[in-house]
Amino acid sequence: MQGLTDKNVLVTGGTSGIGQAIAVRFAAEGAHVAINYRTDIEDAGQTDEMVHEAIEECRNQIARHGVDHILVQADVTKQDQVERMVQDVIDRLGDLDILVNNAGIQISGSSHEIEVDDFDKVIAVNLRGAYIGARAAIQHFLAEEKPGVIINVSSVHQIIPKPRFVGYSVSKGGMQNLTRTLALEYAGRNIRVNAIGPGATITPINRAWVDDPEKKEDVEQHIPMGRPGTSEEMAATTAFLASDEAAYITGQTLYVDGGLTLYPDFREAWSSE
Ligand code: NAD
Repeated sequence: MQGLTDKNVLVTGGTSGIGQAIAVRFAAEGAHVAINYRTDIEDAGQTDEMVHEAIEECRNQIARHGVDHILVQADVTKQDQVERMVQDVIDRLGDLDILVNNAGIQISGSSHEIEVDDFDKVIAVNLRGAYIGARAAIQHFLAEEKPGVIINVSSVHQIIPKPRFVGYSVSKGGMQNLTRTLALEYAGRNIRVNAIGPGATITPINRAWVDDPEKKEDVEQHIPMGRPGTSEEMAATTAFLASDEAAYITGQTLYVDGGLTLYPDFREAWSSE
């Protein structure tokens, strides 16, 4: 895709799933990639070993493309860590051109029963974390008077309510207006802000159904195209939106969802025949 060669990209939550595929895709496009990781053992049940394995896999794939890649640690909920990370990327890669806010978590439970702390945790990573990252990136773009791109990895749950995942639904709903507000505010400064809206995608966040054939079939039945998406499909759309081929697009969310946002229950007429 045009305009990605030699660009410097920071991908948060880049060590697994969609983030990892995005990091690999940008490298394949000739971009230099900073892969953010949060190696806190308490991180959503991931063991230190798993995180390191994922980092190694990502590094090995990127190394094949012969571009620069660095690892940068930060918990996206911590402003000081995110700001240090952005500076670290600028110091080590020489610049920052594209930020991909991908880090995300979900916590389930009846909305009247989950701990308010759990609600706060999801908002802190998915929404506040994306804002903190965008804020730091925009400060850099403005200080250098250079163009910049921000891509938020949102979700179909930006517009489809997700019962039992109230924090997640609210965070992604908020992400839509984060995307649109920043896009409008900085359009005149040559900074584009867009989002992708993945549907059900095979990644570790979905381990509850990915490895269970019955649950997986149930998920597939709800998707008009009859299958979940892949991380690579999410990465392709992210690369497109970040590239010069999307130079006139800002403030948009591109859903990559096999038709999930098309009101699948209306595939057959049931309300007016
Ligand atoms: P994943 O669990 O593999 O990836 C999430 C990543 O975020 C992990 O690398 C994790 O370490 C990182 N992360 C979590 N908390 C962090 C923190 N505080 N600081 C830094 N990193 C942190 O799952 P995924 O499916 O690849 O999710 C990536 C994004 O895609 C998320 O924002 C998710 O909401 C979104 N998404 C996924 C799907 C899906 O079906 N998989 C659908 C829609 C949207």
